[in-house]
Amino acid sequence: YDDRDGKIWLDGQLVEWRDAKVHILTHALHYASSVFEGERCYNGKIFKSVEHSERLLKSGELLDMPIPYTVEQIEDAKKAVLEANNLTDAYVRVIAWRGAGEDMGVASSRNPVRMAVAAWTWGAYYGDAKMQGAKLDIAKWKRPSPETIPTAAKAAGLYMICTMSKHAAEAKGCSDALFMDYRGYVAEATGANIFFVKDGEVHTPIPDAILNGITRQTVIGMLQAKGIKVNERRIMPEELADFEQCWLTGTAAEVTPVGQIGDYTFTVGDITRNIAEEYEALVRS
Ligand code: PMP
Repeated sequence: YDDRDGKIWLDGQLVEWRDAKVHILTHALHYASSVFEGERCYNGKIFKSVEHSERLLKSGELLDMPIPYTVEQIEDAKKAVLEANNLTDAYVRVIAWRGAGEDMGVASSRNPVRMAVAAWTWGAYYGDAKMQGAKLDIAKWKRPSPETIPTAAKAAGLYMICTMSKHAAEAKGCSDALFMDYRGYVAEATGANIFFVKDGEVHTPIPDAILNGITRQTVIGMLQAKGIKVNERRIMPEELADFEQCWLTGTAAEVTPVGQIGDYTFTVGDITRNIAEEYEALVRS
């Protein structure tokens, strides 16, 4: 993955893919001072591109790590990367981090905030599971309280337990893991938000300890426009037994139906199938 042809935008310049490197004393590597975005480009246009750039800047602010670029400059960087790599359908990763510098300890305000943009082709996030319904494990870790860590940031440090939970899930033959939050309520998957259907209405967790995904917000708007009631509320794990349908949303995951969570099973019903198809049509329109 590192030794290949292509271009990566690094601190304001397009560099060769294989030369896009950082020093071992990079602050982010030691202390997780890193925020990022995952975006998808469809037919030459990044879906909700500006919203992603805005969220990146907000994540930087939340980590006391002001990113020295404007939304417009980030937009230009993404366009330059897609063009330089000849990509019209791609996953785009924008990342900003504290670099190496005078500060070798926990404090980092004297170290530069750096930024990079890379893009590559990436198919269905859950592979074959996509239309049949993904199988999810229940994570042993809990999403932390917003008083513990800035949960509204898309920050590297929030992903440590995601990686561990996803490894555990894959070892059991599952595609992903569902987290409960620090209070015990249903939260989110390791890189996606979750929705349920019961009696024709949709239920999804309140985004107070999870990432309020851009796909999540898009899908809520689409459901409401169709006249489907969306209940944003606290969901107890016991309720998994009563829900009929379930799906995940995320930039990478798009709308992925869920067939099973632990011992609970769900059908890939009409609402799920329709919203997956309509999302697909929307991002390509
Ligand atoms: N939750 C987590 C933990 C994520 O990593 C993601 C992916 N960014 C999401 C939710 C979904 O967010 P979005 O729809 O903005 O991609």
